[in-house]
Amino acid sequence: MRGVFLPGGRQVDLRDVAEPTPGPGQVVVAMRASTICGSDLRAIYREHLGSGPEAYCGVVGGHEPSGVVVEAGPDCRRFSVGDRVALYHIAGCGVCADCRSGYMISCTSPVRAAYGWQRDGGHADYLLAEESTCVGLPEPLTFVDGACVACGFGTAYQAVWRADVSGRDAVLVTGLGPVGLAVGLLAGALGSRLRIGVDTVESRRRLALELGAVDVALAADEAAVDAVRDQTGGHGCEVAVDCSGSTAGRQLAVLGTRRWGRCVLVGEGARLEVDASPALIHPQLTVIGSWVTSIGRMEELVELLVRWDLHPERVVTDRFPLDQAAAAYRTADEGRAGKVVIVMDKPGR
Ligand SMILES: [Zn+2]
Ligand SMILES: [Zn+2]
Repeated sequence: MRGVFLPGGRQVDLRDVAEPTPGPGQVVVAMRASTICGSDLRAIYREHLGSGPEAYCGVVGGHEPSGVVVEAGPDCRRFSVGDRVALYHIAGCGVCADCRSGYMISCTSPVRAAYGWQRDGGHADYLLAEESTCVGLPEPLTFVDGACVACGFGTAYQAVWRADVSGRDAVLVTGLGPVGLAVGLLAGALGSRLRIGVDTVESRRRLALELGAVDVALAADEAAVDAVRDQTGGHGCEVAVDCSGSTAGRQLAVLGTRRWGRCVLVGEGARLEVDASPALIHPQLTVIGSWVTSIGRMEELVELLVRWDLHPERVVTDRFPLDQAAAAYRTADEGRAGKVVIVMDKPGR
């Protein structure tokens, strides 16, 4: 079968690798969609700068996989051949407190391995997966929807869940990449009637408006804080979610949060730099760091997406077949597109 490797330095290698065989509690999933995440670009594609949970171990890339189970190993208890699944992208030890609460992302056991980082991921014809990381994908949702949920939409849902977003809240989204778009769409589904998006890139602001992910899109410049306050009667937003991962974006998220509001940090990398008293203490802010999601919350999201008739696929702007993975990564790396997906049209075994 074919598998895509990311040796660093913006290289993408398509190689022939052996087809996997499932062991006990494992399934083989014929890949149908595998989306590219900002973390793939930041910590693997450009250069291998991750360590610990972000160390890339020379495996098949792709941590947002979705497809059809084509083989189930012994002792599988829930999923079987023909089931459509999306993958929670980390297999944990299964027995630590974090794993038991579904947050395999936070597992610190040496056996913890993330697809596309420490074990083979979804940029391939087939994926060897732990049954315990499979999430059933109900029929109205597409495989591309499933791939988007595997990391990006799951992470976005966790952020709005942590902030308890409702129709009472104006929501500020700093950074309108795929995760920012997801936050805007999910905040809207939860009832927010004013979602303000900010980005430095004009094409991303336009896309966010076109998709209905935000109600207002503002340029990220020195006037942005005042512009956010102007939109909210001088107060700022009850909830802000930083998806930019930049120092400036985070600062804007904090300063654009209303007194007693909640500010969630999701975008990775860089630093948070604010004057503590005027920015955090006097406005009585709650600042929340939020990393990915739990598999239980991911299952909840899949159910809600069906109920809301909300297809994450909406944020996808570019599709490539597996043998054009290099072009897919180049497009994603330009930072002007929405979500970029690798699709496999070939039906499973
Ligand atoms: Zn990711
Ligand atoms: Zn664990």
